[in-house]
Amino acid sequence: MKDGGFGRRGGKLFLSFILFPLSLLIAACAAPEPVAEVVPTNTVAVLAPADTATPFPTQGVPATLTPIPTITPSPTHTPTPTSTFTPTPSPTPTKTACEQRIPPQDELLVIVSQEFGLSRAYEPDNLVPIGSHFSREITLGYPTMVREEVLDPLVNMVNDMLGAGLQPYIISGYRSYATQEATYNKWLNLEPDRVDILSARPGHSEHQLGTTVDFGSYRLHDYIDDSFDEKLQFHTYFYKTPEGDWLQNNAHLYGFTLSYPRSAQEVTGFYYEPWHFRYVGVGNATALLEAGTSLTEYLLNQDPEPCYN
Ligand SMILES: [Zn+2]
Repeated sequence: MKDGGFGRRGGKLFLSFILFPLSLLIAACAAPEPVAEVVPTNTVAVLAPADTATPFPTQGVPATLTPIPTITPSPTHTPTPTSTFTPTPSPTPTKTACEQRIPPQDELLVIVSQEFGLSRAYEPDNLVPIGSHFSREITLGYPTMVREEVLDPLVNMVNDMLGAGLQPYIISGYRSYATQEATYNKWLNLEPDRVDILSARPGHSEHQLGTTVDFGSYRLHDYIDDSFDEKLQFHTYFYKTPEGDWLQNNAHLYGFTLSYPRSAQEVTGFYYEPWHFRYVGVGNATALLEAGTSLTEYLLNQDPEPCYN
């Protein structure tokens, strides 16, 4: 078959040499019919010497197409990076701006941090004064309030501390947005360089939730040097006092968790606050303690962007 095919072509080649000059002539005279099928084979004869040529494709594929450039992968055909196909996290409609955030009233696990705050308008609807449940030594005469569900656990815990011979007092409970504004401004005047690790900005304090309590110890000054201002009630050495030590080890049994442990400073954005406890329920507080994590760390793992700023 090959030979026969080649032979036929050879015949045509020979003929084309004869006809080629004639075809130009004819074309110039505008008499088209006989030349059309002969002209292309002339080109093949010049480009493909018979011995070295790859066998002629018999199906009419022109010899000049035999190189196969498509074998070499070209960079433009490499798979495009998958990142372009990664689903982009679209803003979830349920998320609100942090400054307008008003969490459900019965929710205990709400993240409030330096980054994620609460609306100025947020106020718990079941705040109760604690004054009638404690002596003046405990409340210092302040009109402190907490959410209703926090009251019994708080009373039980403080009574058990007193029963154990400890000398705690309560520095603060619920603080409104406006009160926090005043607190922040006070620290801004006292420690302008460190204000943002010492105090939460308004809207960014867990005290606004009504579930958080700061404790003091009548023995704090036994653990710090005399240069410390007597009027200041907070000092990191609170953890060294019997009251601070007891709270670290037992508060979870009443549903309170230490919000700003020393180990979580980078995550919470707050300096270590061994006096600041938040009520989250016994199960949650115990789980956090056993996991060695803070509530803020835990909640950020669940939902890294609880609201947007
Ligand atoms: Zn506090």
